Amino acid sequence: MSKQFSRHGILFVISAPSGAGKTTLVEALRKTSNLFYSVSCTTRAPRVGEIDGENYQFLSSADFRARVEAGDFLEHARVHGDYYGTLREPVLNNLNNGTDVLLDIDIQGAATIRNCGDPIIREALTDVFIMPPNLEELRRRLHKRGTETEEQIKRRLETATREMELWRDYRYTIVSGSIEEDLEKVRHIMAAESCLSRRLRPK
Ligand code: 5GP
Repeated sequence: MSKQFSRHGILFVISAPSGAGKTTLVEALRKTSNLFYSVSCTTRAPRVGEIDGENYQFLSSADFRARVEAGDFLEHARVHGDYYGTLREPVLNNLNNGTDVLLDIDIQGAATIRNCGDPIIREALTDVFIMPPNLEELRRRLHKRGTETEEQIKRRLETATREMELWRDYRYTIVSGSIEEDLEKVRHIMAAESCLSRRLRPK
C-alpha cells in the first residue's frame, strides 16, 4: 500500500464447478504475497496427498456440528453430500488488518457472504465465477483427475450444471481457458480491485 492511503483487506471469493481447474488456480494464487488463504473445514475424507490444516481442516460430523453451533463459521454449506465451512475469525482479523483474503467456496457459500449482514464483509467482497468451457470438457477433466468414482463424477456434473447457471450473481466471470490464462485474469481483477477509489482511505 502507498504512503498516502490505507485500506481494509479485500475478500476475494472464487467459485467454480468442480473440475473447472480451480484447485490448480487457487494453489498458484496462494503464493501471492499479502493474501491470506482461508483453509476451510470439511467433513469430507481427505484425498490422497491432502494435508490436514493445509488443504482443509478435516473434521468429524460431530465436531463440525459443534463449530456450527458455536457460531464459528462465516458461512457453511452441504456440497456433494459433505459439509464445508469458512471460519469467521481469521477472515475478519485479516480484513481488518488490511490483508486480502481468498476463499475457494461453492455457490451457496458465495450467496451467504453476498447477503451477509456485516457491512465490512459486504464492502470487502469481490466474487469471481470460473466458468468451465462446457460440460464435456468438465467430464473429461474429472475423469483425468481420477479422484472420484463414476457415481461421484455423475453427482458433480449434475451439481456443475446447476452451478453454471448462476454466473450472473458474481461480479466477475472468467470463461476457463488454460491455467495461465485464468491466473492472469484473476490477477488483473485483484490488481484493479485494489485500486478502487472507494476502498482507499487517506492516512
Ligand atoms: P472439494 O471436495 O472438491 O475440495 O470441494 C468441493 C466444493 O466445495 C468446491 O466447490 C469448493 O469450492 C467447495 N468448498 C470448499 N470449501 C468450502 C467452504 O468453506 N464453504 C463452502 N460453501 N464451499 C466450500
